[in-house]
This record gives sequence, C-alpha cells and structure tokens, in this order.
Amino acid sequence: MTEEKVSILDSYHYEMGPIRPPSEASSLLIRVTRNCEWNRCLFCPVYKETEFSVRPLEHVIRDIDLIRKYVDFLLNPTDNIVIEDPLAYDSAMRWVGHSMKSVFLQDADSLAIGADNLAKILTHLKSNFSDVERVTSYSRSSTINKMSVDDLAILREAGLTRIHVGLESGSDRVLKMVRKGASKDIHIQAGLKVKEAGMELSEYFMPGLGGRGLSAEHAIESADALNKIDPDFIRLRPLAFPIRAPLYELMTSGKFDRITDVEMAKELVTLIENLEGISSYLVSDHILNLFADLKGRLPDAKDFMLSILQRFLGLNENEQLLYRFGRRLGVFTSLDDLNDKRRRTRVLEIMSENDVTPQNIDYLLDQMMRQFI
Ligand code: SF4
Repeated sequence: MTEEKVSILDSYHYEMGPIRPPSEASSLLIRVTRNCEWNRCLFCPVYKETEFSVRPLEHVIRDIDLIRKYVDFLLNPTDNIVIEDPLAYDSAMRWVGHSMKSVFLQDADSLAIGADNLAKILTHLKSNFSDVERVTSYSRSSTINKMSVDDLAILREAGLTRIHVGLESGSDRVLKMVRKGASKDIHIQAGLKVKEAGMELSEYFMPGLGGRGLSAEHAIESADALNKIDPDFIRLRPLAFPIRAPLYELMTSGKFDRITDVEMAKELVTLIENLEGISSYLVSDHILNLFADLKGRLPDAKDFMLSILQRFLGLNENEQLLYRFGRRLGVFTSLDDLNDKRRRTRVLEIMSENDVTPQNIDYLLDQMMRQFI
C-alpha cells in the first residue's frame, strides 16, 4: 500500500475575516487567525458560535504571494494569467484602487500566534510590499501582557505599526459585568507596553456599556485609564444591541438597563471633561456614533467637543428626536445639518411615513443600527 502525502497547501484558499476597524477601510486584509479565542464579551456578536483557529503560517504566506501576483498583473496587465482565487483577486483590485498603503491583520487578535510567527508574516509582507506605510492589528490587552516589550519591539521592527485594543471601559465593575476578560490595570499595563515598544495605539471606548447604573463610573474610570495610557487614538464605538450578542437578551429581559442617546451624550460629557494631561486624538469614526464630527486632538479640541454635546443636550425633545433619526438614516452627520432645509424635510417625511414617536424611536433605531454591525 502506498501512502499518499497530503500537503498542508492542498486545503489552501485565500480567506477574509468578517470585520476590520472603520479606519482600515482602505487596507488590504490578511487573515492570520480565524475568529476570537476569548469570544465571551457579552456585547459582541461577531464570532459567537464559531471556533477559534490559527491559520497555517504557509497559508498566510501564500495569501501574501497571491496578492503580490495579482497586484503585479493589475499594475502591468498581461494576457496569460489564470485567476484561480477570485476573492484574492478582488482584494488585490480593491487595494490597488486605494494606493496600497496599509494592511490590516485579521481576526480578533493576531498577536495570539506569538511574536516569532507574527514577525515572519510581517517580514514577508514587508519584503513583498516595501511601500506599505501602516500595518495594524487588533489585539487583547491580556495577550499583549503575555509578551515582553522586547517581543513587541520585534514586531514593530518587522513592520507592525499600530495595535487596536478594545478597552471598552476602565471600570472594573463594567469590565467584569460584560466579561471582557481584562481589568483596568491589565488595560493600562498593556497600553503602556505597546507605546514603550514604539507602536501606535488605538483604544476603543464603548459609550453606554455601563448601563444606567454604572454610566458615571464607566465614564470617569475610562477617562482615568486613558489618562494613564495616553494612547495615540481614542475611538468611540457606542454600544448597540444586535440580536446575536448575549447582552441583547439581558436588555430585553430587563437585566441590563440601557441608557438613551441623551444619557449617552451626558456620559460623553463626563468622559471628555475628565480626559486630562494627554495628547490623544479622539475619533468618532464608527457609523454608530451620534456625532461624526465629535473628534479632535486633546487637549485643544476639548472645548469644541464639549460644545457639540452641550448643543445637542440643549435641543428640545423634538429636535433631539429628529437629529437622532436623521443621523441613523445617514442623512445627518452633524448638528449643523438640522439647519439644512432639504435634509431636514427628507428626515421629517421618513419619520412621518414610519410613525416615529418618542415611544417607538429606540426600537426603530435599534433595527436601523443592526445593519451596521
Ligand atoms: S469584543 Fe473582541 S475580545 Fe470580545 S468577544 Fe468580541 S472579538 Fe472577542
């Protein structure tokens, strides 16, 4: 009997994970791991009912080679190429259209494969695409803390320029309640390590995550954690309730007391008022944010950002309702749009067609927001 040798590459095909940060919309996506090893956060629907796995190193290397091949073809078209992997070809085409300056490593925590293997991938990427300016990845604070600053510096040297971390909250009570698998101290320690290694750091804060009972603590403790880390970016990503997130069930059964958009604006006032002594750039780049223009570098932009929130809080209930609905429709991006007659009329017409009232708006907005998650 002859034994057939099966190559690991026989099962190969280019893969793409389900999500990337909003700021990586122009990036090439290279999938290093599949899904999330932790997968327990109550607010997160993304990888529920999936298994975590590490893609074979050879497969990731082959993805990079395949993209190189298709990019070469797209830049210098010839007749003699077979498109054997349409997904990889589409990725290459998209990336060429975006000038090929950035790469995002998927899925939830690429650092989970260890510094040595990740450095091999980064080195291969760099040798194939030397003009790439930014290579980024999500990682969890607990994974980062398992690495030494030297390991992180090796990754930086190999080409990893930025890490996106889901801080979500600086309150230990909130972090425990939502099963984040990290404490405030763990987040601070990990954030400082990333910075010490010379990489850029994005920290995601999740407005609303403390619910009504912990809203103030959530804001104050998060500001304190962020003040201690001083990340390059603070990104706001408001809490939403997709049906597949365990928190949805807790919310509908009354065990999680959600806050309204108005309370969320007040929570953001508390957060921003308490951000002190840092030079982070605060960004509202997720579509779920109520104010797309709530952004700027601290401390200079602090008053500007607070003025946006105070302006919203000073509107009467009907105007707040109109803005909330128009923003989630994608018609409004900032409060100034309330003065745009054409946009305003359009939103009012849609509200009237859908019988939007103060009583049903949360339900309707939840449904609209689910399409963005
Ligand atoms: S939020 Fe991040 S760490 Fe938590 S389950 Fe989702 S992907 Fe995993």
